Amino acid sequence: MDKYKIVDHRFDAIVVGAGGAGLRATFGMASAGMSVGCITKVFPTRSHTVAAQGGINAALGNVVEDDWRSHFFDTVKGSDWLGDQDAIQYMTQQAIPAVIELENAGLPFSRTEEGKIYQRPFGGQYLADHKTIAHRTCAAADRTGHAMLHTLYQECLRHKANFFVEYVALDLLQGADGEVNGVMAYCLEDGSIHRFSAKAVVLATGGYGRAYQSTTNAHICTGDGQAMAARIGVPLQDMEMVQFHPTGIYPAGCLITEGARGEGGYLTNGDGERFMERYAPTAKDLASRDVVSRAETLEILEGRGCGPNKDHCMLHLEHLGADVLAEKLPGISETAMIFAGVDVTREPIPVLPTVHYNMGGIPTNFHGEVINHQNGEDKVVPGLFAIGECACVSVHGANRLGANSLLDIIVFGRAAALRLEQTLPDLKEPKLDPQASASAMERFDRVRTAKGNRKVAEIRAGMQSTMQNRCAVFRTAETLEAGVREMREVAALMPDLGISDHGMIFNTDLVEALELDNLLGVALATMDSANAREESRGAHARDDFPERDDDKWMKHSLAWVDNQVEGEVRLDYRPVKSAPLNDEVESVPPMKRVY
Ligand SMILES: Cc1cc2nc3c(=O)[nH]c(=O)nc-3n(C[C@H](O)[C@H](O)[C@H](O)COP(=O)(O)OP(=O)(O)OC[C@H]3O[C@@H](n4cnc5c(N)ncnc54)[C@H](O)[C@@H]3O)c2cc1C
Repeated sequence: MDKYKIVDHRFDAIVVGAGGAGLRATFGMASAGMSVGCITKVFPTRSHTVAAQGGINAALGNVVEDDWRSHFFDTVKGSDWLGDQDAIQYMTQQAIPAVIELENAGLPFSRTEEGKIYQRPFGGQYLADHKTIAHRTCAAADRTGHAMLHTLYQECLRHKANFFVEYVALDLLQGADGEVNGVMAYCLEDGSIHRFSAKAVVLATGGYGRAYQSTTNAHICTGDGQAMAARIGVPLQDMEMVQFHPTGIYPAGCLITEGARGEGGYLTNGDGERFMERYAPTAKDLASRDVVSRAETLEILEGRGCGPNKDHCMLHLEHLGADVLAEKLPGISETAMIFAGVDVTREPIPVLPTVHYNMGGIPTNFHGEVINHQNGEDKVVPGLFAIGECACVSVHGANRLGANSLLDIIVFGRAAALRLEQTLPDLKEPKLDPQASASAMERFDRVRTAKGNRKVAEIRAGMQSTMQNRCAVFRTAETLEAGVREMREVAALMPDLGISDHGMIFNTDLVEALELDNLLGVALATMDSANAREESRGAHARDDFPERDDDKWMKHSLAWVDNQVEGEVRLDYRPVKSAPLNDEVESVPPMKRVY
């Protein structure tokens, strides 16, 4: 596309995204002496990781004795046996050095009386007896993500990594043999177009909560990396597994951390009953997230909700006392006041299950290398890595445990950097293929010059209400089939898109249109994968198939978005890896999941 002047850059590796995953990988590579460029559409410390409140899991045993094998067991069980046990072993075992490394980098963790890292209980986590609640979640008050992001960004600066801030990555570039060797990006500030060539590209672009109406996710969580991977023919894995957090503030959707229940908070229904005692007699309010979200939804559906419309539940913290709230939960005390007008020392917070996290994403192995699946065979896509929430390793399977995502981003951010340090010499020197950048620019140009009749906001609202109404906490063939149809109708509207500003400089309408184009593809993959999976597992709860079916469905869904506007999505499956990495831990065979 000659109409755009292109600025060229060359690095050993490019990281797209400066959340916890992207920064950890960037700092790892920079400190190993590689030249690395990190591209991010928002300032690094504004990435969604900054909003993480509760903490990061590691079996340090600072409060009560603990073992990474218990963390391994809980994560496999939490995943409802859809997680890959090799990757889960890698993550839970590496958790301990990973957290110590953050401490050494200066992350200001809260402390126990003896000065050790403070650890709080979180949902679904037990000691070796599988009964006693573990204290495994390391926290910096209720601002752990904020502390982590600042610490990592400082480490990146210390190692002189190169940042391209407010650059929107558009598409991946590929060489003659399908190897990924660069990325095109649009600089918001001055409207220039940039071509980054590298031996490897690491996608670390976060989740896609914004495909839904009500979410705890930031506005930037639009599945850009997933969509870029899909556009070069990589399938998206387990996209039906969307986590609803049980305590989004009603109705704003902002998050109240699970740490609030970890510190002793509890839920009640419209009758004032502590209903979790009925659904999870042992763990009660600290059962796994999918379990608590379903319980709340059932209470509301059965007429026992709170408020005039009986459409939410209440989270009580007032009994914890002002001192504990000020010390351990200061951030959410403020959030509750701003978004619900509630003084948490006196009254409960109105809450509702809200879209929070995507277990699904770009399939990778535990080194962060992206895996394609062709003719029944798994193959590494040369030069392409994915880490963090945009990836599916898969350590979270069908349901992520609280505080396992901050862990995932650190452990696999580090793993990708280590892998690249090893394999960089074997990767091909990037050779510029003008055809590859031309096709990336064609899509950009199509969106930028769109002069149709529909606004971004209109098409986006259609997608968000379809996802919210058809692919929520409880699903049936009826809702999902309608969802599959309606998502196609929404995706087909894109050729009639019109944007109000066709300029290049800080054009937010253009960025939102590009993001919508990305969201539509991942939303289609989500709906189709959900419609196909005829069982209930983790976050995927079907009224018409209430049981987990290991014989038929203990496998990962793969969805290729072949043609987004035409709604062409292809599905296939790959088996779950039930064997751990080595004999330091035993495989956990499928069993009934009760809390
Ligand atoms: C409110 C909230 C609270 C949470 N609390 C916890 C918790 O306590 N514990 C826990 O373990 N997990 C928690 N999670 C989940 C966890 O925070 C996230 O899964 C994790 O931080 C994601 O990190 P990431 O690095 O993958 O992506 P993000 O932090 O989302 O960063 C994505 C990055 O990609 C960049 N990017 C995206 N698209 C483009 C593009 N096209 N071009 C250039 N750059 C791009 C963005 O600029 C950003 O820098 C929470 C999530 C939310 C929403």
